[in-house]
Amino acid sequence: MAKKQSKQIKVQSVKGMRDILPGEQPSWDLVRDKVKNFGQNYGFERIDTPILEFTNLFKRTVGENTDIVSKEMYSFVTLGGDKLSLRPETTASVARSYIEHGMLNLPQPVKLYYLGPQFRHDKPQAGRYRQFWQFGFEAIGDSDPVIDAELISISYHLLKEIGLDIEIHVNSIGDSECRSHYLKVLKQYYQGHRKDLCADCKDRLNKNTLRLLDCKNKKCENLAAEAPQIIDHLCDECKNHFMLVLEYLDELDIKYTLNPKIVRGLDYYTKTTWEIMEIGQEGKLQALGGGGRYDDLISLIGGRPTPAVGFAMGIDRVIAKMQELKIKVDKPNSRDIYIAQLGIEARKKALNLVEELRATGFQVASNMSKKGLKDQLELANKKGVKYTLIIGQKEISDSTILIRDMESGVQEIIDIKKVKNEIRKRLDSYEAKSIKLKK
Ligand code: AMP
Repeated sequence: MAKKQSKQIKVQSVKGMRDILPGEQPSWDLVRDKVKNFGQNYGFERIDTPILEFTNLFKRTVGENTDIVSKEMYSFVTLGGDKLSLRPETTASVARSYIEHGMLNLPQPVKLYYLGPQFRHDKPQAGRYRQFWQFGFEAIGDSDPVIDAELISISYHLLKEIGLDIEIHVNSIGDSECRSHYLKVLKQYYQGHRKDLCADCKDRLNKNTLRLLDCKNKKCENLAAEAPQIIDHLCDECKNHFMLVLEYLDELDIKYTLNPKIVRGLDYYTKTTWEIMEIGQEGKLQALGGGGRYDDLISLIGGRPTPAVGFAMGIDRVIAKMQELKIKVDKPNSRDIYIAQLGIEARKKALNLVEELRATGFQVASNMSKKGLKDQLELANKKGVKYTLIIGQKEISDSTILIRDMESGVQEIIDIKKVKNEIRKRLDSYEAKSIKLKK
């Protein structure tokens, strides 16, 4: 006897992961198109890397003591024994690809952009998912501070053009040398206040001291406000680099806030760090994205020392903000025409006509399984088409077709051979009228 079926499957998406339904796609398309457009206009080329990487790649680069690696990665061992992780971010993958494909032989800096899902097993809450989307821009192979300013400018203008009100917060966390001096001073300061730290920060104190500066706990925030600042401990080279970045930003007329708390938390950052903040409800700042220079990353994974800088932006949060601000997103072009058919013979003719019209560049909608005209006209209305072509037995014998103006309901008989010209003529004059109205 067959085993009784076990529990029914849960018809729901995995916690922290969600569907992006058709209704939301126009907003997503707007962001995706803007990213592609900025990539093209600023000379960045698209790169897609696999969603899975060797776990060690992230351990080495993001850092074993970061929350991302120690608590949030989706890691597993394959049947073949490989230790893999779903990518929690993409910069490390881009750096891996840069080395693997010998991109250091290309003219430097190599400018790349990406767009795709990331995975972090974090506590889901508003604006925080376990699968979320990022786009990012990276310039690998150049140490000049002007590149930092260029990337900050891209991150700024891209969101501005979408219509968001944002602030750029910048800082410098120095290079490995001056930062290690600073970390000693910082650790000493926090050790003196250990009893006032939250449990997480007590734990982070010896592992990732910089992160104490961006803890959101009230007491820790107060301590961070009084903490020694890295700016006072930068070596001359890092200080000059930072000053030049700020000068370029002034030149570009990009307003920024100097914020010593922008430490980014990942092991691979050096020198310039920045976050793109939006001002949320009750004036609370929320990061939409962040970036920084990562001069040590390529050598951390075995490449020769290669300076680089880049940023990542969280698309889910950008979309949420667009929705909150009710930013108007044009719906995709309504389909040009709908074809309705009545009877088997007409359906055969209609099937061919759809292909013919599509091949000439029209957008054609139809519901071939429907039989009644009323049903089909209702569906045509829902699609928002301007014209419906109707074909039935009579039209087949006369080699004609009916063209119905969906707004006025007026129908005309036309010669089937002239159908393409007639539709084009009408759509052109419709567009001309609507352009005039817009003016
Ligand atoms: P990060 O590099 O971690 O600062 O991430 C850059 C941006 O990605 C953030 O500013 C967020 O907009 C977005 N982001 C990071 N983690 C999540 C998450 N769990 N859910 C949604 N968006 C996220």
